[in-house]
Amino acid sequence: MHRNLGIATAAAAAALWITAASAGENPKDVAFQAIDRNTDTMAKIGDSIYYFAELGMQEYESAKLLKEVLESGGFTVELGGAGMPTNVWAKWGSGKPVIAIVTEIDALQEGSQTPNVFDHKPLINGAPGHMEGHNTHGGVATTAAFAVKEAMQRFNIPGMVVVSFGPAEEQVLSRPFLVRAGYFKDVDAAVILHIGDNSSTGYGLQNYAAISSKFTFHGRTAHGAINPWDGKDAVDAVELMDIGFDKLREHLRPTYRAHRTITMGGLQPNIIPDTGQIWWYVRDATGPAAKETYDKLVKIADGAALMTGTTYDVEFVASAWPQMGNKVIAGAIQKNIDQVGLPQWTIDEIKFAKDFQHARGIKEVGLNTTPVPLGQRPQSTSSNDNGDVTWNVPTGLMTFPASVPGILYHHWAAAVTPTSSIAHKGMAVGAKVLAASVLDLMTSPELRADAKKQFDADTQDTKYFTLLPPEAKPPPDLNRAVMEQFRPAMAKFYLNEHPKFQ
Ligand SMILES: [Zn+2]
Repeated sequence: MHRNLGIATAAAAAALWITAASAGENPKDVAFQAIDRNTDTMAKIGDSIYYFAELGMQEYESAKLLKEVLESGGFTVELGGAGMPTNVWAKWGSGKPVIAIVTEIDALQEGSQTPNVFDHKPLINGAPGHMEGHNTHGGVATTAAFAVKEAMQRFNIPGMVVVSFGPAEEQVLSRPFLVRAGYFKDVDAAVILHIGDNSSTGYGLQNYAAISSKFTFHGRTAHGAINPWDGKDAVDAVELMDIGFDKLREHLRPTYRAHRTITMGGLQPNIIPDTGQIWWYVRDATGPAAKETYDKLVKIADGAALMTGTTYDVEFVASAWPQMGNKVIAGAIQKNIDQVGLPQWTIDEIKFAKDFQHARGIKEVGLNTTPVPLGQRPQSTSSNDNGDVTWNVPTGLMTFPASVPGILYHHWAAAVTPTSSIAHKGMAVGAKVLAASVLDLMTSPELRADAKKQFDADTQDTKYFTLLPPEAKPPPDLNRAVMEQFRPAMAKFYLNEHPKFQ
């Protein structure tokens, strides 16, 4: 198969497609057939990652499995990009356009749960688990990418499909580093997928920008009764920083959010503390607004140090731009959502959902049967690091119907269903919507041009800049100790499957 198609041969490729299409087949049909053929493989990928249940930056087994299965589908897979050992960046094809599928596969602390059981029953007490269903993302993203590749191959469609699994979404961590390292600079458009209880897309600002940093003050210890005048109290500096920010609150725009926790507060009262630490999150509706507040926060730290004769250093933890959904791509995704429809739920699946909702004391609504119509979703005040991608590349956002309505994430109950038939059927629908939307972007220069026009308008007044300090580096040891503590017990539950695409 000659895949190295340049601009000159694009027209020829398009002509080929028309020939094939007139024979009663089109790229989306081929992609959907590939997904139907691989539903077991997709389920095994999702289920395997569920039992790996790896925390952010420790997604080693998950990354290995994704690499294996993507390679079985003909993809070239790089692990370890941008200084993150568990980063997965896979690609197939060559030349332009480059369309990326973007998601994550990390679990959450203390999320361990026995699947399909309505009571809190961890597989392993205290162990991590998939109580947001990110495990399903692994199945959906890889299978959709494979399906796109099958269609591109069959119809000689030029371009490249990329799959990006960024580590540690739950710590709002990796995507700013991937953007800074240039991973998205040649990408023409992207689709970000996430589990939900329905098929949906959205456009405009979807959530908040955030900057998270730890401020550590350094003073001088002394006896609290005998020679306190020799001491420089680092915890006084922490308190003054806290009070200083409270004085600032009145003068911030109403969209801001700021919250903190005091993570080092001294040892005992008769020892003047030489170390104190306060950990801040600053958020706002836009990246520049969050940065403006953050810069004021740093000035307050300067003042607190000056008042107490201490010094301080800042440990950057994470940053994110708000997700900005591209309206043009959202329109294309919605068409595919409406065309694919929702899964045909069985009576047993609906009963299971209602029993589960009953057990959780929430409204027994069962499962969704009609997709969410297109309209501007309200801006949430939470943050996701994949927001940075959306300010660099025209990006569509989509959810797929793989969880039970009313069961909220970041709670053990959300870890009950991510390996159920409800999840598997929702994943198949998600993979079809995703593959169809990527194919739309891959095959329609008009759609890409319109999406770019929308992107240029959306970013006209607000230009992206990284919120990462220049010296910031990803923390490969994040969550390592917890994972090492639980991994041996968790390994007994591994499925030991080696799914392959066919
Ligand atoms: Zn998530």
